[in-house]
Amino acid sequence: MTDTTRIDSERLWSRLMAMAEFGATPAGGCNRQALTDEDKAGRDRFVEWCEAAGCSVRVDAIGNIFVRRAGSDDSLPPVMTGSHLDTQPSGGKYDGIYGVLACLEVIEALNDAGVSTAHPLEVVVWTNEEGCRFDTAMMGSAVWSGNMPIDDAYALADREGRSVREELERIDYLGSEKAAHGPVHAAFELHIEQGPVLEEEDLAIGVVTGVQHMSRHRVLVHGAETHAGPTPMSMRKDPMMALAKFLPELYALAEEHAPDGRITFGFIDAQPGSSNTVPGRLELTVDIRHPQAAAYQAMLEGYEQRVCAACDSLGLEVELNCFWEAPGVEFDANCVAAVRHSVEQLGYSHREIVSGAGHDACNVASVAPTSMIFVPCEGGVSHNEAEAITQQQAELGANVLLHAMLARAAG
Ligand SMILES: [Zn+2]
Repeated sequence: MTDTTRIDSERLWSRLMAMAEFGATPAGGCNRQALTDEDKAGRDRFVEWCEAAGCSVRVDAIGNIFVRRAGSDDSLPPVMTGSHLDTQPSGGKYDGIYGVLACLEVIEALNDAGVSTAHPLEVVVWTNEEGCRFDTAMMGSAVWSGNMPIDDAYALADREGRSVREELERIDYLGSEKAAHGPVHAAFELHIEQGPVLEEEDLAIGVVTGVQHMSRHRVLVHGAETHAGPTPMSMRKDPMMALAKFLPELYALAEEHAPDGRITFGFIDAQPGSSNTVPGRLELTVDIRHPQAAAYQAMLEGYEQRVCAACDSLGLEVELNCFWEAPGVEFDANCVAAVRHSVEQLGYSHREIVSGAGHDACNVASVAPTSMIFVPCEGGVSHNEAEAITQQQAELGANVLLHAMLARAAG
């Protein structure tokens, strides 16, 4: 009987469109940043839907929302699934939101089919996943999983100086429940891929096995400001010459670790920034990623060695500092197997994939058996108003989630 249970694609899609009204932008995207009036309106609507579906709703002290469908043995730890409703300032309709609304749809589909599970099911909306208004991504899940002290989260402030705590209170989502995890039987997060691989290969589902290792580095090269005219090339201390040497070498490093190695130079600044002065100071950021620990380590070492060698050869002083690092995550083998089995049973095309971006599931994975499911998105575009998926893509992903959850919640 449970094998024939499917989600209602119309209901899921109409809710995605209804949620997109909160903070809708003229270009068809969403601006629903964490703890704004728009976020509150979206949360309120979501809670109404959950209560109408017969679920109980709790809010914890960092504003995470927990929606519970009782299990036939309600003392068992829950099977949890969740994502986020907040968006970037010019975000789309699906990043995070699809994951949340598909979870609710799973519960609705089980209600319609009269299917009960031994373990309770819980849908979670994590607070401030995007980290744009308050500068810490995946904040709510970090606090809940014990990876961030709640007072640090409360103290984060937006550009106008309003703190997370004040804003939680203002929108009435400063919950009474302690923001801390209890036992969780299994956890899943369904998300758009945010990359081009599934679409390129014309596949319906990504069985996500982990999240890649990633870090961001600041490189500061010190030279000497001199006039662009009188100083011969050979007598300059020009940081741009170092850049010209190490930039191709770092692209080569990514190539040596192809196809999974990633190196990105997202910010480059030469000072004083005058067209007829040799810059005295060059600053750039380097973002380095790889799914495998050993290769990631080799890339870190290669980066350091090549930048230093280039600067040394020109007699330039260089400072390197890593200002952000997120270790990779290997998802739980049983949860990954539940997703794979669910896809195979449903007969959908699929492949294994490693997430290139961080998700709340990374925090959840530090305290509970966890894995993720990806669906393709158009052109791999996300964090963008043009973000798009089709109703059918949404449907298939939610069916996979449904059956993976059923498998883990059966008892
Ligand atoms: Zn997201």
